[in-house]
Amino acid sequence: MTVTAEREQELLKSIPTGLLINGEWRDASSGKTLDVEDPATGKVLLSIQDANTDDAMAALDAAAAAQKDWALTAPRERAEILRRAFDLVIERADDFALLMTLEMGKPLAEARGEVTYGAEFLRWFSEETVRHYGRYLTTPEGKNKILVQHKPVGPALLITPWNFPLAMATRKVAPAVAAGCTMVLKPAKLTPLTSLLFAQVMQEAGLPAGVLNVVAGSSASAISGPLMKDRRLRKVSFTGSTPVGRRLMADAAENVLRTSMELGGNAPFLVFEDAELDAAVEGALAAKMRNMGEACTAANRFLVHESVAEEFTAKFAEAMKAQKPARGTEPDATVGPLIDGGARDDVHALVTEAVQAGAEVAVGGDKMEGEGYFYQPTVLKVPNDCPILGQEIFGPVAPVTTFSTEEEAIELANASEYGLASYLYTRDVNRMFRVSEQIEFGMVGFNAGVISNAAAPFGGVKQSGLGREGGAEGIEEYTTVQYIGIADP
Ligand code: NAD
Repeated sequence: MTVTAEREQELLKSIPTGLLINGEWRDASSGKTLDVEDPATGKVLLSIQDANTDDAMAALDAAAAAQKDWALTAPRERAEILRRAFDLVIERADDFALLMTLEMGKPLAEARGEVTYGAEFLRWFSEETVRHYGRYLTTPEGKNKILVQHKPVGPALLITPWNFPLAMATRKVAPAVAAGCTMVLKPAKLTPLTSLLFAQVMQEAGLPAGVLNVVAGSSASAISGPLMKDRRLRKVSFTGSTPVGRRLMADAAENVLRTSMELGGNAPFLVFEDAELDAAVEGALAAKMRNMGEACTAANRFLVHESVAEEFTAKFAEAMKAQKPARGTEPDATVGPLIDGGARDDVHALVTEAVQAGAEVAVGGDKMEGEGYFYQPTVLKVPNDCPILGQEIFGPVAPVTTFSTEEEAIELANASEYGLASYLYTRDVNRMFRVSEQIEFGMVGFNAGVISNAAAPFGGVKQSGLGREGGAEGIEEYTTVQYIGIADP
């Protein structure tokens, strides 16, 4: 059923538009506002308060003041807040999904999938909160004891991108709450509304004032710059592009901050000669088209054994052609618009350059007419030195190239500065182990096109970043270790 304009307006009216500082929704000190647009129409959805440096500092003041008491709360209390937040997000799943579709563009069914995935971090870390163990042991010399305990690292700055508005926030906020850290969350200016609604839900779930502060603003550096220099900040967790991550790491070095960096990706999707081809096509479609290709885990380079490349490409092109690009609120939409006009121009420039370098268009290859920033689902047959293989595409474009041996496939897969997600399609489990051993990626999907899970450690190697989110590892990013050497009586 198509979502009515009344339903959209009713939801938008209920979204808090202020800055959340010390438990209060405030206006920006500059009096300025920031417009949030619908990428399917280019029209303004809502204007929100636009934070500047003074507001960011007020948010850090609140986080720093709340840190001591928050660190002393019982783990069970923190766990229960997260569990209530999980229940509330699920209760309001339709609101969260519609809001993400409106501000980010993804189809409603996908937005609902993100609600499930994003909410799971709240449940997972609720469960982890009370099972985060230290250790106690006798020294190897047999005399004296070693006690190791975890403490919250301290106030954390959380910076999130626009592509997964809920999941990127919960993936950081939930482990920080579990560990006992206070926070300043800075959502992306293109999609801040979901974070504002999520912050309201965290308040409803009982999070004390000052623990989570949210400052959205048009100038990211006006918010993060001064905070990164402040000695009260102890941690920065960033998800976004590699160039911005590098800059933040340089700032973090000045203040010796703990960092987690979830950066760009250029995922290879390997299809071996023994792969189940229909499953590979289905996986390829999911790995490429989830979020319109605007995902750090998006398959970007389809490396297919030469004996099956023709059949795979034909089937994949057919599946891409059957996609229905439309505003995400339309019931039959399977692909939404790209986030803005600049993003669409970038994608088209990559396609144009690939074609000039010898790529053949199997399907798509152009912008779509009409309002919104739609791009045709595209499959390109490319030579294996095509420039498009060297870059993160962030759009619905799938370059396919071939290999002839397993060694060559591994070499091509590793020929990227990124090392986030990778995908292998083969019926041979031994090959899965052999290839996984040799490919330089933080995550491997074995006959699976979507592998993100709150219980699994998400993260990359090389220029894809440092640290892991989710899994047992996720909470470690927000804790520090204290060792107590105990003399025997
Ligand atoms: P981006 O780097 O432009 O922005 C990410 C966030 O950083 C936003 O909140 C933005 O406002 C902020 N930012 C930008 N410049 C800043 C600065 N100078 N100082 C402080 N903050 C700054 O990235 P994006 O376009 O929002 O997101 C797309 C990128 O994110 C892609 O490269 C994608 O691969 C990556 N990403 C990675 C993961 C992961 O988990 N590895 C997940 C999603 C997206």
